[in-house]
Amino acid sequence: MQIDQMPGLDQAKTILKETFGYKAFRLLQEQIISNALEGNDGLVIMPTGGGKSLCYQIPALVLEGACIVISPLISLMKDQVEALRQNGVTAAYLNSSLSGKEQLQIESDFCEGKIKLLYVSPEKLLTRDFFNVMKSVQLNLLAVDEAHCISQWGHDFRPEYTKLDFLKKQFPKVPVMALTATADKATRNDILKQLGVEGAETFLASFDRPNIDLNVRPAQGRIDAIISHIKQRPDESGIVYCLSRKSTEKVAAKLLAAGIDADFYHAGMPSDVRDKTQERFVRDDLKVVCATVAFGMGIDKSNVRWVIHHNLPKNLESYYQEIGRAGRDGLESKAVLFFSYGDIVQLQSFNADSSQKELLDAKLKRMQQFAEATTCRRKVLLSYFGEHLEENCGKCDVCRNPPKFMDGTILAQKALSASIRTGEKVGIGMLIDILRGSGRQELFQKGYHQIKTYGAGSNVPYFDWQHYMGQFLNLGLFEIAFDDHNTLRTTGLAKKVLKGDFPIHITRPETAEQRKARTDTPKKTKQQERSEELFVKLKTLRKEIAEAQGIPAYLVFSDATLNEMSAQRPTTDEDFIEISGVGQQKLEKYGTDFMKEIIAYIKAKTAEGEKIKGATHLVTYEFYKEGLSPEQIAEKRNLNPVTIYSHLSTLYEQGKEVDLAQFLTTEERGSITRGIEELKIEDSLKPLFEHFKEEIPYHKLRVALTLYKSEK
Ligand code: ADP
Ligand code: ZN
Repeated sequence: MQIDQMPGLDQAKTILKETFGYKAFRLLQEQIISNALEGNDGLVIMPTGGGKSLCYQIPALVLEGACIVISPLISLMKDQVEALRQNGVTAAYLNSSLSGKEQLQIESDFCEGKIKLLYVSPEKLLTRDFFNVMKSVQLNLLAVDEAHCISQWGHDFRPEYTKLDFLKKQFPKVPVMALTATADKATRNDILKQLGVEGAETFLASFDRPNIDLNVRPAQGRIDAIISHIKQRPDESGIVYCLSRKSTEKVAAKLLAAGIDADFYHAGMPSDVRDKTQERFVRDDLKVVCATVAFGMGIDKSNVRWVIHHNLPKNLESYYQEIGRAGRDGLESKAVLFFSYGDIVQLQSFNADSSQKELLDAKLKRMQQFAEATTCRRKVLLSYFGEHLEENCGKCDVCRNPPKFMDGTILAQKALSASIRTGEKVGIGMLIDILRGSGRQELFQKGYHQIKTYGAGSNVPYFDWQHYMGQFLNLGLFEIAFDDHNTLRTTGLAKKVLKGDFPIHITRPETAEQRKARTDTPKKTKQQERSEELFVKLKTLRKEIAEAQGIPAYLVFSDATLNEMSAQRPTTDEDFIEISGVGQQKLEKYGTDFMKEIIAYIKAKTAEGEKIKGATHLVTYEFYKEGLSPEQIAEKRNLNPVTIYSHLSTLYEQGKEVDLAQFLTTEERGSITRGIEELKIEDSLKPLFEHFKEEIPYHKLRVALTLYKSEK
């Protein structure tokens, strides 16, 4: 059957628009939904933010009966249910956070067909009571969210998930949909096997997250860099991932001292304090969280605008998962990784005690290769997950500033020679100090100021030396003796280089201007500035509304929706519902408040004498209601009075309370009406103007014509 002839798919599209407020399906969503509507099992693999939820929510709403969603994370369940309710869908959840009485009520509602989507924890699902509930309702779909929890290979294995094979056995006719963001093959096969749905069609979406801008910077001076990054975007939410519990606290303290609204989060804190911090972040009461990897698992916050890695993650899986917490709403977001050799040393020492040392080291090496990439970073990242981008992404630091290569032989010789002359007793920092001829006391105490290469590289900035040393390490000229205070050792290759038998090609470091260009914020157009100003106002309104209901702000409208609203500035129901993310329910619930805010903003700008896009006649209406005459409004708005009369006529046509008749005498109205009837013209004023020998002004003609048409 052709997909576009599928019964139910039309209905699915209607629900997408009317309930969720979206115009089109994203890639694969349509196929996944069709597959479920046909009654088939499916395995959905999509990155975070890809739009997995709609894949099961829409079939659940199209098909008769109800859907059960198995979900392991209590906080996510609550969020999903609230999001559905906001869109007018009857949904509920069952887990240990509810009292027995509350659970009974929900079960009875479910049995009575009052709930279309029921989220259930695996523990609850496996109880006998709940099994009886399942037997007594018509099920249309069984969705297994976070399905990787089924696999021992996965990172958050849940023993209860291995018992989910009873679903297919007990309900063979109900389609099962498993969903996960984990792509590796072993996990995929495990999911299919353990759920007993080997025949399920697999839908594998691209793992690319094109809205996340990838950046890597040297770790030196990272705190200042982080502070300046945050200060450039004071309204944005973000996460700073740190390697240790202690460093989350330290970094948070430094950010706080710089006047930034930051706090820390790690697994060593009392759980109630931790939960509160997370809650504040989710509700936009806290802008920045400095956290260990423990943070982010159970949060669905869609408007995290940036993720910073204060330290190198231990592998690319973690990195990908952590940056994936940014930009779930699809808006532009930023990932910045600060890279230092010190972190590699530390991570290697963690690995040293593991029985899987080799595997862990290999993964760390791939992480390091990403950080040191001289080609498109997105290509490097995706190739790790088995995907191959055809073109460079254009949205990573390497694409923006492709490295330029240079001859580094002399620099390498200087560094090698200096290291050898210390007896290979120094680490990177001291070696650079020697080369730069630093006056550091320790250097003098050890007599390093007397060696021949002292100051041999004094014309090269510290930052650049760091860049070169990183490359010399990669090229294998040096090794770090991790077991001897991380001092540098020269290798066999070093001799060849010193003799001049082995030319060294390295990339140029960023110039100071490049660095500056990277950190400077680009200039904005007036329109953008206005949209951003309005965005802030709409966000404040959203927060008030969310707080009154005790829900996170992004459940009212996502940032993406508010963004579009601030740019389009809708002021009528028809325009408002055109905004992506506004469905019928949200239009009814929130439309008036948001449109009021938009009109007030346009009016305020207009009163300041600015011409601003959107709802110009509504601004006129606001002044009219204050009792101003059309001429006064025209003066205030710096517009021609004819335009104001035209606005008032439009408002009249739209049914607003405008007393148009007052602008004409009875005689004027009578004679213009006769003119209209004689000429039989209703859509243009010019013939009328000429008909009256240019003696009746345009604005009177406009008003009379409007009155004439509305009476007809
Ligand atoms: P996942 O569960 O895969 O991480 P979600 O289901 O939470 O992702 O979806 C991420 C965001 O994308 C949500 O804000 C969701 O409303 C939005 N979204 C999903 N499908 C569409 C679509 N077809 N058009 C526009 N936005 C969508
Ligand atoms: Zn790129």
